[in-house]
Amino acid sequence: MREPAPKVPDPVVPSQFIREVHDRLRQYDGMRAGEERPCPGCSSTSTRKNGYQAAGKTFARLVTDEGFEEITLEVQQYECKSCGRSFQGDLSEFFYDDCAYARPVVDLCRFHAVDESYQAVERTLMQCYGLQVDRDTIERYDEKRGEPTESREKIDVGGSSLSLPFLAFLFGESLGNSAHFAVSSHRALW
Ligand SMILES: [Zn+2]
Repeated sequence: MREPAPKVPDPVVPSQFIREVHDRLRQYDGMRAGEERPCPGCSSTSTRKNGYQAAGKTFARLVTDEGFEEITLEVQQYECKSCGRSFQGDLSEFFYDDCAYARPVVDLCRFHAVDESYQAVERTLMQCYGLQVDRDTIERYDEKRGEPTESREKIDVGGSSLSLPFLAFLFGESLGNSAHFAVSSHRALW
C-alpha cells in the first residue's frame, strides 16, 4: 500500500543505513503467523485450519522515498470443531496484546520514550529508522506497558544513539561483526 510521501526532514543517519533496516523488515512481509491454540470460546483443542485472514496484520510501517510501505503478516485462521467459532491463531510470538505494531517496534517506541518526548520519539523513528509510528500510539504503548525491561544499551550510528536491542533483532548476532559496523565499547560507526 502506497500513500503520498510524508515530508521528511534531512535524515540524521545515512540513508544507506535506513535502507538496510527496511530490507531486514521486508523479510517479514507476507510471513505466515498464527500458531494453533485452543478455541477462545469453548477451550476445545479440536480445531482445524481455516485459511488466512483477508487483511494481513501490520508488522511495521516504513517511510520510504515513495511514501509509506506496510509490512504485513498473513494471519492463520482456525475454526473450532466443537462450537464452530472462527478465530486467529496465536500471534504472541510477534505481537503484544492490543498493539497494532509488532513487538520489536513497540519495544523501540518504549526504548526512546524513556528519555525523549513522544513527539521527539516519532521524529527519531522516522529520521533514524525510517519507521512511522504516530505520537499518540507511542504514548499509548508507553503508558500501557510502562518502563521497558529489556536492555537499554545504545549504539552510535552516524552520531545518533540508537537502540541496540532493536538493531540486534534486525541484524542478529552478526551485528558486532558486520562489515557495516565497526563496534568497539558499544560504540559503532556506520
Ligand atoms: Zn469452540
